[in-house]
Amino acid sequence: MTGTVFSRSLRARLVGATLSTAAIALAALVFLVVLRSGQTLRDQAQEVSTWSEAQLSDRLFSDAKLAAARLQMQREDVERRFATMAERWDVAKAVFSGNTVAASELMRPALTLADLDGAIAFDINLRALTADRVEADLLAANAALETTPIAAALRAVMARNDREHPTGFAMSVRWNDGLSKALAAEESGAVADVFGRPVFDDFGEVIGGLVGYRVLRRHEPLMTAFASLSGRDVFILAGQNLLSSAGADSAVQLGSTSRAELHTVIGAEKVARCIPQVPDIRLCVAAPLRELQQLTGKVVGIGEESSRSLLRTLSVAACLTLCLVAVVLLILSNRITRPLVRVTQIVSEVARGNWQVSVPDIDRADEVGDIARAVVVLEHSLSERDQLRDDVFRQNTILTDRERQLQEQNERFDAALNNMSQGLCMFGFHGRLKVFNAQFCRIYGIARDELEAEPTHAEVRRLAGLADWSSAEGGPVRRTLTKTLADDRCVEITVEPMADGGWVETHEDVTASVTAQARITHLATHDALTGLSNRILLADRLAAAFADYAGEGRAFTVICLDLDDFKGINDTLGHPAGDELLRQVGRRLTTLCPPGGTIARLGGDEFAIILFEADLPKGVLALAEEILVQLRRPFLLAGQFVSVDGSLGIAVSSAEDADGDDLLRRADVALYAAKADGGRRVRVFEPEMEERQNQRRWLERELRLAIRDEQIELHYQPLFDLTTNAVTSFEALARWHHPERGMISPGEFIPVAEATGLIDALGAYVLKLACSDALTWPGNLRVAVNISPIQFREGNLDQFVEEILRTTRLPSHRLELEITESVILSQDQASLDMLSRLRRLGVRFSMDDFGTGYSSLSSLNTFRFDKIKLDQSFVRNLLETDEAAAIVHVVAELGRILKITTTAEGVETPEQLARLRASGFSEVQGYLLSKPIPAAAVVAFLNAQETLHAAA
Ligand code: C2E
Ligand code: CA
Ligand code: CA
Repeated sequence: MTGTVFSRSLRARLVGATLSTAAIALAALVFLVVLRSGQTLRDQAQEVSTWSEAQLSDRLFSDAKLAAARLQMQREDVERRFATMAERWDVAKAVFSGNTVAASELMRPALTLADLDGAIAFDINLRALTADRVEADLLAANAALETTPIAAALRAVMARNDREHPTGFAMSVRWNDGLSKALAAEESGAVADVFGRPVFDDFGEVIGGLVGYRVLRRHEPLMTAFASLSGRDVFILAGQNLLSSAGADSAVQLGSTSRAELHTVIGAEKVARCIPQVPDIRLCVAAPLRELQQLTGKVVGIGEESSRSLLRTLSVAACLTLCLVAVVLLILSNRITRPLVRVTQIVSEVARGNWQVSVPDIDRADEVGDIARAVVVLEHSLSERDQLRDDVFRQNTILTDRERQLQEQNERFDAALNNMSQGLCMFGFHGRLKVFNAQFCRIYGIARDELEAEPTHAEVRRLAGLADWSSAEGGPVRRTLTKTLADDRCVEITVEPMADGGWVETHEDVTASVTAQARITHLATHDALTGLSNRILLADRLAAAFADYAGEGRAFTVICLDLDDFKGINDTLGHPAGDELLRQVGRRLTTLCPPGGTIARLGGDEFAIILFEADLPKGVLALAEEILVQLRRPFLLAGQFVSVDGSLGIAVSSAEDADGDDLLRRADVALYAAKADGGRRVRVFEPEMEERQNQRRWLERELRLAIRDEQIELHYQPLFDLTTNAVTSFEALARWHHPERGMISPGEFIPVAEATGLIDALGAYVLKLACSDALTWPGNLRVAVNISPIQFREGNLDQFVEEILRTTRLPSHRLELEITESVILSQDQASLDMLSRLRRLGVRFSMDDFGTGYSSLSSLNTFRFDKIKLDQSFVRNLLETDEAAAIVHVVAELGRILKITTTAEGVETPEQLARLRASGFSEVQGYLLSKPIPAAAVVAFLNAQETLHAAA
């Protein structure tokens, strides 16, 4: 609908606009034509008047020429007649007769016949002979003629003297006064036609000339006839003097000349055109002015009529054009706007989103066809555009989602980046910093904004103070570097190249881990307590030394050192003192050791030293002795001076050694031998030492099996009360009958069991067996069991003892545990508590080997023992040395005062027994009274004892 209205109004407007434009254009054209024709008419009138003047002038000119021609014809006629007259013999005779009257008489009629006014005859000398008029003054005439061209002309005519073809002359001349008077001509100032001819005699000779003349008449009949015939006025003027006229008034005066050479005729409503004539005269033809006006009016009228006609034609043509335009417009509008309306409707449909409308007129070859085809294209493109818009919308939604995800990822990335423990920075392929995190700034103390301007790698290195990081190490090459900063912090840098040519660096402050690593490395290769090398480093050094020896033959020596009775010091003075001793020993060894050597602590109180022979000018034995000397110098430990001793084993590199460890082993064997020999000495390795050690190993192996197979038996050695002489208890003593080797002493296998940890199993077995055996004994006889200090290390001895008492049902007061003072001195408070608990259970404690330790007395002070067993060494020396006797006496006294049972062991002689009894000892034990007896023999032994008592 909209399209139709639009199109209709468009059509109306198109037609209206075109028609009105055409009408206006035509009106303007007509107006212009009218304007132009008015102007043209005016111009035309001007032109016409000019043209009319020219026309009239031309006509008058023609008339003037006609008049002049008539005059000429008349003159020629006169000339012919004059020639005829001149040739008449009678005239010639008369003239040259000299008879003037006769001549005149004769000439008159001839002149009249020839229409001449007069004639003069001249002789050959040009002297006037006679004239037609008698009264003529011939002499004056001669003089007057000489001043005119007539004389010259006549002379020339006469000079030719051709009778057969005579020639003359004709000319018009103005009469001058002299000539007029001489010729007696009436007309003064007149114009005359003069003719001249030669005159021949009978013989044909020139005898003179004849000149005739005809003066212009006031009213020439010829002119008058012409005037009446043509209706013109004709007049001939000399200057302003009227010489002749016809049809006009006699008094004529010419006014000024117009462009068309027309003269006004003063005093008359006429105009005249003049043509000059010879001599010096004008022939004018005049016509009335009215004629000119009539001509002009006629021509202007024709112009106006043609203008009007043009206007009429124009108007009609304009109307026809308008109609034609209207019709063409209507046709065109039908041809164009109707399809346009349809196209408009379709475009409206398309605009409403209906792209399936079929478009007509697409086959048309004109612009409407173009529009229709364009609409089809539009339809397609709109449809595509809509599809595209949908696609774009979908894409946009996806993109928005992606952007949001990307944003989230970015935020997470930022959070991750800035919360990572490592510093991170990323460089682009051109080597400029692209990304960095907060930790990176923190590590190097760089302000964020210093890195914002994408500095180069070199600038970043400078800012970070990584001066020793050369540019050769920069760039996208995978590597890990560790750099030390000015403040000694260590930074580990990992460079990871990226596909685009850039790289990522992670920077981590690894100071702590590097320090820890260094510490770990140190700890791994050094002894924490003394700072000396440990076993691992020693093994390395041994391997290196052996390689040197094997390669260059550089002999070397290994010394193994063990402190004698370090355990005792440890136990008595405490672990801190023991540790301090080890540190001081380390320092002394370091002082003694030559620079190339290596000192290692192998564990406990064991040390090993590697020395090169070349570094020992005095030999290794001298150094070993010096070590012993230095060890024996007192050490200040826990506020007191302590002297220690040591055992040293030496092994010198030899061809038999398979490796460095072999040498160490040999040194250790030598040390063991030194120890076995009682310590405090240096032993150099000998092959037999190895044999002994092998035996020890064998023993260990066999002992393990013996314990497992319960091959260990217990023998019991009784203890006697010196007051009653009765058996108070039995001490359980381990006995091992080896199937091959026979009896093996506990003095031999107990240390092996202690050294190898087998003592725990053996101790448990012995305790259990002793308790069960004791249950078979009569009365309240106690059983004493030796407990090795090693057995206290586990920390659960009390529970273990309690358990055995419960399972064997042996009353606790029947069990006595024999321990050495080292147990008391070495144990901490927890162990003491453990002993006290056992005591509270009712178990009794004996201090074994009293007097051999360092602080036997102080042990008594620390723990309440039930019994003191004086070491047998004192009993052995009792009768030999006063000191031993004094000690026996003091111990007996001590027991009495402390109310502790005192037992003396190793009593072998009656004298010893007597002295002990005298000293006041409570109990005795020894071979004198009874050797240890098998368990099975105990009851019989007791029975025999009762019998003895009874006998006594
Ligand atoms: P000890 O505890 O001092 O035991 C006494 C040692 O002296 C025993 O030697 C005993 O046979 C011996 N003896 C007793 N009277 C005399 C004498 O008049 N003269 C001489 N010369 N010796 C005498 P044995 O049985 O060889 O034991 C040696 C050491 O072995 C014991 O010394 C004890 O410390 C240890 N031992 C023995 N059996 C065990 C055991 O079952 N457990 C633990 N932990 N140690 C044990
Ligand atoms: Ca004992
Ligand atoms: Ca003992």
